[in-house]
Amino acid sequence: MQKIAVLTSGGDAPGMNFCVVAVAKTAEFYGMPLVGMIRGYNSVSHYDPLLLDAFVRNARDVAAEDPESLSLVDALETAVSGKLGGAFPDFKPLFTKYRAALCLAADAQEFCQLFPSFKKKMLELDIDTVLDIADLPGTYLRTARCPQFLDPVVRLRATVYMVAMGIEGLVVIGGDGSFNGAKSLCQLGMPCIGIPGTIDNDIKYSEMTLGYDTAVNVCVTAVRQIRATSRSHDRPHVVEVMGNRCGDIALRTAVATGAEIVIVPEVPWSIEEVAAKLQKEIGRGNTRATVVIAEGAYQQMKPFDMYNFLMQRGKECLPGETINASRLASILKRMCHILKEDGTEDVVEVRATVLGYTQRGESPTEYDAAFAFEAGHLAVSLLLKGEENKVIGLRKGRIFSMPIEKALKMQKKSQDYFNYDLYTLVNSL
Ligand code: ADP
Repeated sequence: MQKIAVLTSGGDAPGMNFCVVAVAKTAEFYGMPLVGMIRGYNSVSHYDPLLLDAFVRNARDVAAEDPESLSLVDALETAVSGKLGGAFPDFKPLFTKYRAALCLAADAQEFCQLFPSFKKKMLELDIDTVLDIADLPGTYLRTARCPQFLDPVVRLRATVYMVAMGIEGLVVIGGDGSFNGAKSLCQLGMPCIGIPGTIDNDIKYSEMTLGYDTAVNVCVTAVRQIRATSRSHDRPHVVEVMGNRCGDIALRTAVATGAEIVIVPEVPWSIEEVAAKLQKEIGRGNTRATVVIAEGAYQQMKPFDMYNFLMQRGKECLPGETINASRLASILKRMCHILKEDGTEDVVEVRATVLGYTQRGESPTEYDAAFAFEAGHLAVSLLLKGEENKVIGLRKGRIFSMPIEKALKMQKKSQDYFNYDLYTLVNSL
């Protein structure tokens, strides 16, 4: 294997940069040049007729003696122009058989000179380039969603571009969606290995995803900080954390901070139940209770007429507005009270904080950094061994790889992984 590429795709996650460093270090160790693709699949999702034309012309020369391959080149020309109706023929044998001869430039610099539309879409990486990004959160290679990549013509062109660059394998750091893209590229003839990079911990085949541990640690620190003021001012607090449709960040944060209430997408809930629990806490003298809510949990809330409730109690709310952390705090404030010694009721100030992107903006913890490093190393080693179409994960704390297709088919039902015992315990008092 001569040259490989790496990209980050989907939402950014702490540890992505460290993973790129591991890929660079391993590639350098094995003497393989490495190219970083900028903004995920966007780097190879544009239309460059100049390159497509040059590729087809070269492919015709390369396959001149082989009628079967020549007819594939004809089909490829029609397919990349978007004019081939129906399913594509299998182009993989063409790319595999002539991979080296189909490369149009010696390195990324020459490639960008020949095809300027690729400037700023790729860069050569080596250990010196990535040295300083190792501990940084975010992703140096940038990331972006790329809806065009759902189009098979765009994916075929992307494969052609990468083959033309001399890329023989691609490491994709991202989530489920990015792995679907990688699976399609493998089918077209670009060997790919996926590394699960997302704070949400919602990837079905792996116990942990890259960035999750760091995100939980950010949340734990934030809850402790918020609680200092909650305690000082006798103010319960709603803290919204991320996780997409997965409640792992919320549950782990609640467990690690001793939060009194946790609300997750895995369990339907009602505002009345939460208010009753909070009132019970206040009744026991706990006036600084913490409610941790996962961003995906609002969709699981039992129907509640928020508009009428808030309007009747003098809190502005427009019809059709949906529930969020600050509205939840407003409602709880109006449903709960502090009973004073003279028997009268006092308002309970419930405040809300949405942690949002802070959860992605921290340097990776040791756990995430170590996983990033091992995963990056394994990805390159697998490509080197000629393995493809695989994803890397953690099982019982150990790193492993499995076929992308099998991983994507795995349906992790919430009852298989969500810790209902812990959830019940957190909410029990
Ligand atoms: P994540 O990788 O974090 O799950 P997305 O679901 O947004 O994030 O996917 C990231 C990108 O992966 C998409 O913008 C798209 O370019 C690509 N992708 C997603 N689903 C598919 C698919 N079914 N086929 C090909 N590419 C896909």
